[in-house]
Amino acid sequence: LVLPLGQALNAYTQLQTGLGALQRIEEILDLPSETAEDRPAQAGSGSAEPAIVFENVTFGYPGGGTPVLQDVSFTVPAGSRVALVGPSGAGKSTVLALIERFYEVTSGTIRVGGTDIRDLPRDALRRRLGYVEQEAPVLAGTLRDNLLLTAPGADEARLLRALDEVNLGALATRTPDGLDVQVGEGGVLLSGGERQRLAIARTLLADAPILLLDEPTSNLDARNEAALREAIAAASFQRTLVVVAHRLSTVVDSDQIVVVEAGRVVATGPHRELLETSPLYRELATHQLLVS
Ligand code: ADP
Ligand code: MG
Repeated sequence: LVLPLGQALNAYTQLQTGLGALQRIEEILDLPSETAEDRPAQAGSGSAEPAIVFENVTFGYPGGGTPVLQDVSFTVPAGSRVALVGPSGAGKSTVLALIERFYEVTSGTIRVGGTDIRDLPRDALRRRLGYVEQEAPVLAGTLRDNLLLTAPGADEARLLRALDEVNLGALATRTPDGLDVQVGEGGVLLSGGERQRLAIARTLLADAPILLLDEPTSNLDARNEAALREAIAAASFQRTLVVVAHRLSTVVDSDQIVVVEAGRVVATGPHRELLETSPLYRELATHQLLVS
């Protein structure tokens, strides 16, 4: 068996990268979990602690070259709505991944509810966070299966209420099967906007105090756009929301906007102020922010 050298090296490099990532995961899983309920005072979500704090965070993907985030600092007050905006590849989705602790920061600190996330056991951290991905997956199965994923004990009324809140109530009445209608492959096909709203419904049911949302980049039709906007409003009611925003309509309603460019925070402030102070923000806003 003879592989061309380049190909063999390439395979080897990929293996190394994979092993690096695996080791990271193992390091994470090996972390002691004793700190969990040891610090209820700091863990309280009703405290005056900001929901999320980034303090001089620098991060590079395992095996990657230059860091994709450099010296990133910002604060998300509890109960506020913060939008991350910036060009494609700036590092916005990476910020959410780091809050979820899918990866470890290279340097700096991320605090959730005042506690360094390295001191929070994974399940405690995950309970605080609802995460809606850009390409939200739909489980093959019924609508009910999809909703029960995050709220195994929820009754019918609660599931229907969550669907209503994200403007998907019609899905449960479209067929005589109600919540037992098959969705996804082999069932009712959902559009990108509907899939994301279903994911938002799941996080509503999970009832996490902090919602992380990576807005879809695809162009939604006006009805889906309005429905998503309402779903986000419902989800952020009495919650902290950090949203990677691709729509102007999402950012103008935010308390604070963090402008990210090439891995750095280049401006922070509310919409009106940034229009004056940040040329990049002004440019993005002019183009309605629709960048991936
Ligand atoms: P944004 O969401 O602002 O478009 P991302 O956070 O997705 O940007 O990506 C920031 C940079 O990190 C990009 O250069 C991207 O190619 C790189 N990147 C994203 N995810 C990974 C990954 N899993 N492994 C390696 N590099 C990645
Ligand atoms: Mg992204």
